[in-house]
Amino acid sequence: MKAIAVRGTKDVFLHDGKVFVERVLESAKDFSQNDKLKTFSNLSTYLSFETLLKANGIPCCYFTKPYQVNLSLSEIKNLWERERGCFSCPVACLKATQKGKFLPEIDALTALGPLCGIHDVSAIFDAYDLCVKTGLDPVETGTTLACLMKLGEEGVLEKENLEIEPKFGDKEALLKLLAFIGKGEKGSSTLGKGAYQLSQHLQKPDLFMGVKGRSICFDVTNLPYLGLQYATSNTGFTYLSGPTFLDKGLKREEIPGKVKLVQDKTAALEAMGICPYVTDGFALDVFLSMFQAATGIELEEADLLKIGEAICNLEREFAQKAGVDLGTGTLPEKISPSGFKELIDKYYQLRGWK
Ligand code: SF4
Repeated sequence: MKAIAVRGTKDVFLHDGKVFVERVLESAKDFSQNDKLKTFSNLSTYLSFETLLKANGIPCCYFTKPYQVNLSLSEIKNLWERERGCFSCPVACLKATQKGKFLPEIDALTALGPLCGIHDVSAIFDAYDLCVKTGLDPVETGTTLACLMKLGEEGVLEKENLEIEPKFGDKEALLKLLAFIGKGEKGSSTLGKGAYQLSQHLQKPDLFMGVKGRSICFDVTNLPYLGLQYATSNTGFTYLSGPTFLDKGLKREEIPGKVKLVQDKTAALEAMGICPYVTDGFALDVFLSMFQAATGIELEEADLLKIGEAICNLEREFAQKAGVDLGTGTLPEKISPSGFKELIDKYYQLRGWK
């Protein structure tokens, strides 16, 4: 199954429709004066590109070397020609070519490019387009193929009789393998299940770079804030749990509290249907006033964060009951920041988790 489409037919009733529309229009006006969001609108997820580069956060060839190709942000920016957005969103952070072809976000670019040893941007864009058209998750599929290339390099695939030889840097092989998985061809099912299943299937579980069965595509060795986000997210690696605006200049002891705060805030706002990309850009009272106009329920900032915390706890309980191995928030050793256990312990203490 690749998608579920749902369409409602009934009206949506608001507590005070007039005030709600006023609040929405005010927030759109706020947006035009909000530098943080304007920068995000301009750069999309590439907002973190230079920080990631400086911290060796973009890995090559399935985490065997850091990114060393001289590709600058302005070069990447030259590749997009149109700003696109989800319906009615003033941020319009999606980037497309003149012909409307969507361009990959930074995690998809990393997974389908450097992680597979590929630095040719147009090949990465073709790979991304193929993922979009065949309904594949570009990040998990890219990291899975990078893992497959690493397994090939280690000589683990000899008995697998693969028709396409997966090799780092081979863009033709990457495109063929994506088409192979996308079409669900015979023999593609293990690859279609992701890098965790692949490494388990080939009895190389230690090779897997991810948490909770979901791949990581950035090297967080020098990025403890991001590492803690990924290690503790209830759904494994995703920057949808808040770190679009990477926290530079945060003191080490402030990291666990900030990660928890962003996760709680994002969980509550996602429950309201707010895009997680912008949750760190707007002040909470903007959303609270919209929520009150829509529902008639008055909430303070602290109430909203308590709701977010309850959602995070409930998600964790659900995952536990669904058999997800929650572990104790560890990252793969190879990309674990120094002193990471201390951060995890502090974070678990704040959450009241064991
Ligand atoms: S809703 Fe989110 S993803 Fe969509 S354009 Fe707006 S900020 Fe971007």
